[in-house]
Amino acid sequence: MAAIAMRKYCNKFCKNYNSPLVRFHIDILTVPRSLIFHARFLLLGEIQMAEVENNPEKEMITQFHMNAAAGNAAKLSTMLNYSTSLINKMDEKGWTALMYASRNGHFEVTQLLLEKGCDTSISNKSGQTAVDIAEFWGHKHIADLLANPKSDVRSKMWCDGPEENENYFGRTLLNRLSVKRTNSNWIKNKQIQPTTVYIVFSNLSPLVISAKCEDSGKTGIHLCRLQYEDVEQLLVKPEVTSVFLGAELQSETCAKFALGSALAEDDGLIAWFAVNAEFIAPENFRVKYPDCCFLQPLILYLLNFSKEEAGVVAQARSVLAWHSRYKFCPTCGGSTEVQDSGYKKICLQKNCPSLQGIHNTCYPRVDPVVMMLVIHPDGNNCLLGRQKRFPPGMFSCLAGFIEPGETIEDAVRREVAEETAVKVGNVQYVSSQPWPMPSSLMIGCQAIAVTTEIIVDQKEIVDARWFSRQQITEILTHENHPISIPPQQTIAHTLIKKWLVKNAHL
Ligand SMILES: [Zn+2]
Repeated sequence: MAAIAMRKYCNKFCKNYNSPLVRFHIDILTVPRSLIFHARFLLLGEIQMAEVENNPEKEMITQFHMNAAAGNAAKLSTMLNYSTSLINKMDEKGWTALMYASRNGHFEVTQLLLEKGCDTSISNKSGQTAVDIAEFWGHKHIADLLANPKSDVRSKMWCDGPEENENYFGRTLLNRLSVKRTNSNWIKNKQIQPTTVYIVFSNLSPLVISAKCEDSGKTGIHLCRLQYEDVEQLLVKPEVTSVFLGAELQSETCAKFALGSALAEDDGLIAWFAVNAEFIAPENFRVKYPDCCFLQPLILYLLNFSKEEAGVVAQARSVLAWHSRYKFCPTCGGSTEVQDSGYKKICLQKNCPSLQGIHNTCYPRVDPVVMMLVIHPDGNNCLLGRQKRFPPGMFSCLAGFIEPGETIEDAVRREVAEETAVKVGNVQYVSSQPWPMPSSLMIGCQAIAVTTEIIVDQKEIVDARWFSRQQITEILTHENHPISIPPQQTIAHTLIKKWLVKNAHL
C-alpha cells in the first residue's frame, strides 16, 4: 500500500511541476518520511536502504537509486543531466543505481547507465557486482548486457570515434584476477585443486586435441585441459615455468553467491595455469589424452581455435615466450627469480640497478606495431603490399614496429613512406589486436594518402598496389581468385572490410 501511495504522490508532483530539478526535490521533500521509507522498502524488494536524512546530497542519491529500481529511465536521465556525478554513487550498503536496475531487471535503465559511462566493476559491501546481482535474480538479458557491454552499447561521449571491435586473440574466457597473483597461499591452494585447469606448452606450442563441434559437426582444435595430477611431476622441475592466467568468468558468479567470500579456502573459482615444459614429448600425456599433440607448425593452426580459447593462447604464449627469452636480468646479466605467479622477474644480484625504482625489464614485454590501411585521396582505392614471406598472391595492409619516442601517427607516416614512398596525412586509430608471435600489439589505423605514386623499397616489401573497391570485393567473393588478403581472424582483414563497408554507398 505504501508503494502505491508513493507512486500516487510522485505522479501528482510530476504532473504539477515541470521543472525536473524542482520535481525530484519536491518528490523527496514533500512525501511523508515514513511513506518514503516503506515505499522504498517495497519498491526495491528486500533491499533495505538507509532512511533519508536531512542531507540534500544523500536525498538526491536515494532518489536516483529509487528511480533506477523503479525502471524510470526518463527521470534518471534528467537527474544525470543535472548531476553526472550521481552515476556511480553508492548507498550505505555499497549499492549503485546500476545494481538496483540490475536487481529489478530494467534493461532500458541499465542501457542508459552504461551509455552514460557507469562503472560496472564496482562491488557492493557483499562483494557483488551488478552482473552478479543480475545473474542471481535470473535477469539473463541484463547480465549479458553487463558482461559484454562494448558490443551492445556505445557511449554517447565517443560518438565521433571508432566503434570498438572484438578481434581474434582479443576475447577470452578468463578474468585475469591480477590481484591474486601476489597471494601465494591462494595460488598454492588453487594449484592443487582438482578443478584447476592446466594448459601445457612445449617450445611455445600448445598441447591440443581435435574434437567435433556438436552444433556444426566441424572438427576444431581445442586446448587440452589438464589437471594437477597430469602435471604434478612437471611442476617440481626447476626449468619449468608456471603462469597463473586467471579464473573462468563463468565460475565467478557462482563462487560469490555459493560461499559469500572470494577469500574462502575453496571459493569455487576455476583457476587456469599455463606451463611451459621445453621440448616435452606429447607421449607424456597420451595415456589419459590419446589424441593430444603439440601444434606444429604453429602458425598454420594458431587461427583455428575458438575465439575464447584464442585469447587464452595469446595471453599464455606471450608470457611464456617472455620467460623463455629473458632468462637472465637484462640490466646486469644476473640470475632472476619469478614472482607474481609468473608476471614479474626480479634480479637476485643485490646491487643491481633494476631493484631500484620501476623497470620495464621486470615485466612481460609488449611490442607495439602499427598496421594501416592507406586510403587513396579519391576514397575508392586502398594501398596493399606484399612481403616476401607471404603466401603466393597474398597482399595485406602495410605494417611496422613503432620506434622509441614515436607517436602512433608518426609511425604510420614513416612506415608507409619508407616502404612505398606514398605520403600520408590524416591518421585515425581503428582497433587493436594482441598478436602472440611472440608478443606484439597490432594497432590498426586508417590513413589518408596525400600522394599516390608508389616506389616499392624492395627490402621490407616486394610489391605494393592500389586496389579499387571493386577489386577487393572480387578478391573477397571469388574463392579461386589469384590474389588474396589475410584471413578474417586478422586485423588487416578487419581494416579492409571496415573500409569496404563504410564506403559501400559511394
Ligand atoms: Zn640485475
